[in-house]
Amino acid sequence: MKWSYRCPSCGAEYPLEKSRYLCGPCAAKRGVDMPLEGVLECVWEGEPSGVDYLDTRYAIPLPVEPRYFPAIPVGDTPLWAPERLRAELGFPGLFLKDDTCEPTGSFKDRASYLVAAFARREGIKEIVLASTGNAASSMAGVGAAAGLKITVFLPEAAPVAKRVQVLQYGGDLYPVKGNYDQAFEESLAYSDKTGTLSRNTAYNPLTIEGKKTVSFEIAKQLGAAGGAGPGEGWASPDEVFVPTGDGVIIAGVYKGFEDLIKLGRIKRMPRIWAAQAEGSKAIATALAEGGFGRPVSSSTVADSISVDVPRNGAHALSKLKKHGGRALVVSDEEILEAQGILASKAGLFAEPSSSAALAGFLKARGEIAKDAIVVLLITGSGLKDIKSAMKGLGLE
Ligand SMILES: *Cc1c(COP(=O)(O)O)cnc(C)c1O
Repeated sequence: MKWSYRCPSCGAEYPLEKSRYLCGPCAAKRGVDMPLEGVLECVWEGEPSGVDYLDTRYAIPLPVEPRYFPAIPVGDTPLWAPERLRAELGFPGLFLKDDTCEPTGSFKDRASYLVAAFARREGIKEIVLASTGNAASSMAGVGAAAGLKITVFLPEAAPVAKRVQVLQYGGDLYPVKGNYDQAFEESLAYSDKTGTLSRNTAYNPLTIEGKKTVSFEIAKQLGAAGGAGPGEGWASPDEVFVPTGDGVIIAGVYKGFEDLIKLGRIKRMPRIWAAQAEGSKAIATALAEGGFGRPVSSSTVADSISVDVPRNGAHALSKLKKHGGRALVVSDEEILEAQGILASKAGLFAEPSSSAALAGFLKARGEIAKDAIVVLLITGSGLKDIKSAMKGLGLE
């Protein structure tokens, strides 16, 4: 297989190399306080074969050879049927894709895993990133397994569990007086100055590509659930709910399904819903209004989806428009209520961001067929942010 980067806006192609992040001419068109422009996509040519696959069950083509991936079990998370929730809501085709089971407790491991493998292949020793919390704890954990030095810029207000994770995994932590947007700028200054590989979400195209793995797993797991034997059978869900902040996960989910269609394993794109918090709804607003306006200062209990300027907003918006995706907005009260429902009715304790996927589904269910196959992406563990859960329980 041959891999390269392509700019979805202008079509320019670039080699997949370590010093390449954005498409230069398109990136330069970015307005002040606007989402990144010129975010690159990984593209491949040729027929993938068994040797290209990290895991032959899911047969996912990736731009780094399997031998470079660190020894830590990322991905292959359960897709499971919450029986009591199904019965109570009257949706027998409801599934939870449970990424609370990732090694560091969040979906971010999918991106960190690919970036770590890439760094090992290229002989890179250090990775730097900004994060609201989970990307940092993820990169620190996966980096520890890979033997890489990890440097993170984290807002001081990040939940304590996420900060402790970074330190426990041996990462170098720079607390930032300010929000994620400031941390992003500081981390870029650091990587520009030192030449360190940046794992900033969206900015490094491998963060999007790494996240596509979830779509392959979902399609395979649904295919198997439909009665096909192991090694055969793929099926597309009807609806997928994705908690959305920067818009990288949702772009990765789309990329995965696009690849599956290109490979002929599934025929149609599911309808994908971006679930956003009322206090951080830039992508939903842009989808309704046709483009991004002035940034609004974000504020929500769901820290992992709290961003003023969604870094991958422009790219995510173009995918949503292209494929007829939807966006919806849920309040903090709805998020905390959904967190309680998911925990007490399904036995899955998810962090607030992930609970937004259920809150979004509850809001949209009038538009969804009763027999639809619906997947909620549950992206992070509730234990990462006990303070917010206490709020939901009225303990604070
Ligand atoms: C990062 C994150 C999200 C949102 O992903 P984006 O790519 O920023 O849209 C959702 N849930 C969890 C747990 C996360 O860590």
